[in-house]
Amino acid sequence: MPMTIVERIKKISAVLMKPLLKNSRFFIVMFCIGLLSVMVVHRGMRHISVFELFFETYLLTALVSCFPRWLSNITKGVCYVLAYVLGIVDMFVFYRLDFPLGPAFLRLCLQTNKQEASEAIQSYVTWDSIMSPVLLFLVILALHLLSYRINIKEFRIPHKLNNVILLCLAPLLLFSGALSLKNEWFIVRNMLAYDGDDMERQAQLPYDGGFYLPIYRFLYASKAMNIDELKIRRLIDNSSRVKVGRCAYTVPNIVLIVGESYNRHHSSLYGYPLKTTPLQEELAKKDELIAFTNVISPANNTSQSFHLAFSLYATGCEGQWESYPLLLQLFKQSGYNVTFITNQYVNDIKAVIWDYNGSRFMNTPELSERQFSHRNTKKHPYDMGLLEDYDSLKRFETDHNLTVFHTYGLHFMYDVRYPKDQRRFYPRHYKRPDLSEFDVDNLSHYDNAVLYNDKVLAEIVKRFADRDAVVIFMPDHGEMVYDNCDQYARNLNPKTRNEITQQFDIPFWIWCSPMFKEQHEELFEKIKKARDLPFMTDNLDQLLVFLGGISTEYYRPEDNPLSEKYDKKRKRIIMDGIDYDKIIKQP
Ligand SMILES: [Zn+2]
Repeated sequence: MPMTIVERIKKISAVLMKPLLKNSRFFIVMFCIGLLSVMVVHRGMRHISVFELFFETYLLTALVSCFPRWLSNITKGVCYVLAYVLGIVDMFVFYRLDFPLGPAFLRLCLQTNKQEASEAIQSYVTWDSIMSPVLLFLVILALHLLSYRINIKEFRIPHKLNNVILLCLAPLLLFSGALSLKNEWFIVRNMLAYDGDDMERQAQLPYDGGFYLPIYRFLYASKAMNIDELKIRRLIDNSSRVKVGRCAYTVPNIVLIVGESYNRHHSSLYGYPLKTTPLQEELAKKDELIAFTNVISPANNTSQSFHLAFSLYATGCEGQWESYPLLLQLFKQSGYNVTFITNQYVNDIKAVIWDYNGSRFMNTPELSERQFSHRNTKKHPYDMGLLEDYDSLKRFETDHNLTVFHTYGLHFMYDVRYPKDQRRFYPRHYKRPDLSEFDVDNLSHYDNAVLYNDKVLAEIVKRFADRDAVVIFMPDHGEMVYDNCDQYARNLNPKTRNEITQQFDIPFWIWCSPMFKEQHEELFEKIKKARDLPFMTDNLDQLLVFLGGISTEYYRPEDNPLSEKYDKKRKRIIMDGIDYDKIIKQP
């Protein structure tokens, strides 16, 4: 007689059931420990993570069941220790800092000496924190230990229940596996990232829950902590040998504002139909703000763009990035008072991995010391808060100042980048029947954030209005914001013309104070003449070195758009290999 489908499923399940019967305690304990982290520490997509946990715990149990007895016992022991220790530490960190395990925390643990560590542990391990969800780990541990006193083999699953389990197990495993596929891919790709920039790129992959277990958070944080270590050590070594000659202080006050995820085609200064940048346009009308029309970023992630802009290295230069001097160090060493006011790269224990990695060259103590005279220490919910930091650091200013503002700008999620009461654009302002309700709303949030950013930029400019000063605005990269498509944010491998223009075309302008225009007529004319030149911001350093009048052997006039020798035909290679101008000629 042929087998019915139900019988077939039961038969497959019976095979799948074997590891669970053989290692039932291991499966149950590992699942419960994981579940506790997922329910308490992990944020978002919990429903998918629970299935993923089930699937992975099953695979681990099946694997352990294949081992010979001695190996199986050792493996189980190691898994238990890791699961308990990491689970409890992760929970403590989360409970005390409201943040899961990260690289900055690991580094802190490594750097502190014995006394500091014991003080830290004393301050962490309080009655309060034990009476938190951490206690639940201890409950699981107690039950786990108790289970060894009971002979599990004596338990028999009742016949009816056994039938139900047999019927459900195979479909449940199949369902869980399918559901967790996207996230598994995310974890694998991220664990295989080869450097800091790649980590930031891979982190943009779509996922459902990401690093949902403490073990993944721990491995990923350790990876982040170590990944660019060698580069940073080399950079520290090289930066100790940097030399500068006499400085002309051509422009005594230079301000650089670094924006975030700014798509040029959403700025009305560049022709966007909604009035997103009224204040910048006013400055342009007064002939103070010179908007450059053909500027792109060399990468679509923050850290790579930063590395290229803030080092005398540029795409195509010989040798390694870390063997070139850092731009801000040259300024500080030349006698400029260098102030760094950031809303992302603050030296913070809660730094997310890509901020941590991207900012290593600014936050490692030796390098921070060599580049900055003063810097802020706290992030702000909105960028306008950076002005408070500037006002409090203003007292340190000297006759020559380079001030770098680094905003959170237009980084997704867009709806939290501007105060709710300053919203001006709503879905009704858009005719986009091709987009979902969420997407039209999201699009409007982006434009509102551009509008808010306009106020921040104007406020910074105001602070320098009556001085001999220039303010340069340059976002780190662009952003996809539904232009001719239904996509937002950034992607790993931008290829088409539309993807590239959105993610690499950036606004770029130089504002010149009235006093600057008066005292540097010739230079002002040079800036106006350069406005339509093709430029890529990996050479920002060349422009700044020129404006500061800094003498260094690393200055290349052919890479400075204000120089007579500027190479207009320079190939602009983005993402380490795509010829931007070639792609842009495509229809
Ligand atoms: Zn960025």
